[in-house]
Amino acid sequence: MAATDIARQVGEGCRTVPLAGHVGFDSLPDQLVNKSVSQGFCFNILCVGETGLGKSTLMDTLFNTKFEGEPATHTQPGVQLRSNTYDLQESNVGLKLTIVSTVGFGDQINKEDSYKPIVEFIDAQFEAYLQEELKIRRVLHAYHDSRIHACLYFIAPTGHSLKSLDLVTMKKLDSKVNIIPIIAKSDAISKSELTKFKIKITSELVSNGVQIYQFPTDDESVAEINGTMNAHLPFAVIGSTEELKIGNKMMKARQYPWGTVQVENEAHCDFVKLREMLIRVNMEDLREQTHSRHYELYRRCKLEEMGFQDTDPDSKPFSLQETYEAKRNEFLGELQKKEEEMRQMFVQRVKEKEAELKEAEKELHEKFDRLKKLHQDEKKKLEDKKKSLDDEVNAFKQRKTAAELLQSQGSQAGGSQTLKRDKEKKNLGFL
Ligand code: GDP
Repeated sequence: MAATDIARQVGEGCRTVPLAGHVGFDSLPDQLVNKSVSQGFCFNILCVGETGLGKSTLMDTLFNTKFEGEPATHTQPGVQLRSNTYDLQESNVGLKLTIVSTVGFGDQINKEDSYKPIVEFIDAQFEAYLQEELKIRRVLHAYHDSRIHACLYFIAPTGHSLKSLDLVTMKKLDSKVNIIPIIAKSDAISKSELTKFKIKITSELVSNGVQIYQFPTDDESVAEINGTMNAHLPFAVIGSTEELKIGNKMMKARQYPWGTVQVENEAHCDFVKLREMLIRVNMEDLREQTHSRHYELYRRCKLEEMGFQDTDPDSKPFSLQETYEAKRNEFLGELQKKEEEMRQMFVQRVKEKEAELKEAEKELHEKFDRLKKLHQDEKKKLEDKKKSLDDEVNAFKQRKTAAELLQSQGSQAGGSQTLKRDKEKKNLGFL
């Protein structure tokens, strides 16, 4: 067959041509694998659920290790997110695993805002990644991606229905993260109750429009298993790091007076299903979905909020420069407006203060005048009194001198004169 016969149009002007011999680009997948292995992988899990539902135990059981951490108390004033990162190695593959756990979730009387710290945490990780992407010199290959890839939502094994806290929280998170709901401590519920509980949870999630993560069925190699596993959601799990001898094998299990529950026995719980789906089959899809769906949504909203668009109103390609200029002008305009408002406010305040001070000064002057007048009156009164007292003293002194004079004359003139003296005394006012 001639080469021209084989060549055909693919897409726009793209032709398929035959190769005369081996070129070597069929090793591209191997190159990719080698590169990824040498770079290592990262995976971030968020465990949301009430304190004591077995979040830490399940993580230890899933990764076959004992992660450090103090058990949480029920006395937290609010919900906090505790994040720990660990370096794990299996064969020659390195995994940087981050486990984020909600501390104090469901422990408050008012649970209205319990979802907020979780939403803020997820957004903060998206924001950090976006900031790195927008940098002029970005180092995304060395950047520790902390975006949450999977959210394990722990449901209490009540056997009834979902709590409103669970529904509200899942609803708030479903557009930001891949939610995998799990029934925690499922050894606390009987098999028949569990079947009914799973159906009830699924119907409540559907009726409330909560989007949970669906294992992908578009890849042929995993379509069947993923399809089957989707029907098993929410997984009912049991956690335990205790190893017990069952038969002649050591197995992870929980022992009770009436028997033993084996964690990895599929007849006892869905732990193996969860591990298969989360780690062995869909870890890469979870990472992919986080980047292409949830982060993309965050990024789009954020950039639109900042005024960026793909095309301008005339459907012309959008100019970054123009957007920047427009935003800058808008910002400067607002800044000027604010500055003017503040200036006006300042002038107004100064005027008010000036008037207040003037009023106070006037009052002080009036008070001073009043006091001055009072003081003058008082002084005048005292001066008058002093003058009248001085007059009285002078008059007294005069009378005294006259009396003394009379007395001395009297003693000289003898007793005959007494009558005359008495008369004169009377005239002087002594008798
Ligand atoms: P967290 O506060 O959600 O991290 O809960 P923990 O992992 O600290 O577990 C709290 C308690 O529940 C511990 O005593 C665990 O041994 C116990 N626990 C954990 N998983 C299970 C389980 O699957 N079934 C039962 N019955 N108890 C469990």
